[in-house]
Parts: sequence; structure tokens; C-alpha cells
Amino acid sequence: MKITFLGTGTSQGIPIIGSEHPVCLSENPKDKRLRVSILVEWNDYTFVVDCGPDFRQQMLKAKVTKIDGIIFTHEHADHTMGLDDIRPFFFRQGDIPLYAHQRVFKSLEKRFDYIFTTEKKYPGVPSVTKYEVKNEPFLVGNLNVSPIEGLHYKLPVFGYRFQNFAYLTDMKTVSDIEIMKLKNLDVLVINALRIEPHISHFNLEEALNFIAKVKPKRAYLTHISHLLGFHDEVQQQLPENVFLAYDNLQITL
Ligand SMILES: [Zn+2]
Repeated sequence: MKITFLGTGTSQGIPIIGSEHPVCLSENPKDKRLRVSILVEWNDYTFVVDCGPDFRQQMLKAKVTKIDGIIFTHEHADHTMGLDDIRPFFFRQGDIPLYAHQRVFKSLEKRFDYIFTTEKKYPGVPSVTKYEVKNEPFLVGNLNVSPIEGLHYKLPVFGYRFQNFAYLTDMKTVSDIEIMKLKNLDVLVINALRIEPHISHFNLEEALNFIAKVKPKRAYLTHISHLLGFHDEVQQQLPENVFLAYDNLQITL
């Protein structure tokens, strides 16, 4: 299985438009972060987790020519607003499979009503097939994927476990029952927004505590704000099996 970090930034991305913060002005490519998303590939399958406003740019950069589906963590704009750009895939492949909680579909249907409508569709509008995700394992391609539910302030969010790899973003609270699903991981990806606490995301300390509890072989931090600091400086302070993810990083499991 191959994982590509398509984006590792928080909702505004880094640099933030108009910002003169030193991290936003950094010349290091590892300090430039698009909105969070990963590509998950195995055998001939290609799935994307979330499709934020940078989706088009991310698909071009990763040279993705077909996708077997998009799996959503939650409905926030930084995770969903690229949905219209499934069009090139739709033109080649037909209806694009989407996997999401029923509540997330309701939100997408409001914002992208023209995609979900079945009547009098405007020519060129893409179509999708909906697969509702509940908090139980489901089949993605030929793999069983397990959702891990957490809270993003008060909003339930799904992380996903693919074999010995798990991807969790936008978490602030994860119950012990859900943490039980994360045993024996080779790689855990978890969000770490910044140094200071935040109402709806783990800060660095909370993310490191979470990693210590889950005990994966390796962990990568994502959904990073400019306020976490420079990539190279933060990386030096992390435990030896914890890494800051950065855009275009690939890992093979
Ligand atoms: Zn987010």
C-alpha cells in the first residue's frame, strides 16, 4: 500500500493569503501546505480521503489518472470544496463512488445540489454513487476499512483504518472504545494543529499523548497550521518515531 500526502495544512493552507508570518514566508517547500487529503493506493486501486479546495492541483501534482472513490472524514469546507473537480474522472470513468456518513451527504447535497440531482442535469455536470458509511467496517475496493469516530469540537468525524495504516484528522476527542480499533498499527497519521490548545483540534501535546496511547510503530502529524512553526525546527523536537508530514511525502507499507 502506498500513501501520498496530497495536503497537510489546516483550513486556510500555508501560506495564508496576505500573511507575513515567518512560516508563511518560508522558502522551504515543506512549509507550504495545501488542505489535508491523502491518496491511498494498493494493487490497481486508488482512493482519496477528502477532497478540499486544492483537489485539482493535488490530482495534477500526483498525476492521478483515475480514482476508485472519495472517502470523506466530515463535511467542513477544507475537506469537501473540491468536489466539482471530479469532472475529468467522471468524463472518463462515469459515476464516481463517494463514501460518507449520511449527515455528510446531506451537507454535500445542499452545497452541490447540481451534482446530486437526478433530474434535468445540466450537460457536463458530474454524477456520483453514494455509499453511506456507518461506524462499522465497510468494503473499499477489495479491502475492509474501519471507521474510527472522534469529535471535532462537537461534530462527529470519521478517521479510517486501512489494514495497519490509520488516518485520523480533525480530532479533538477520541473515546477509549474507538482507540481500541487502533491496536498494532504500523503507521498512524494524526492531526496536530499548533502549540497552543484549540477548541476543535489536537495541539502538538495532545497529538503526542494520543500517539503514546495508541503506540503505532511510526506516526505522522498532519492538519498543521503556520502557528506550529517551521517544519525543520519542529521535526527536531519530536520523539524518534514521530514525523511531521509534508505535502507530496509518500510512504509505503
Ligand atoms: Zn479540517
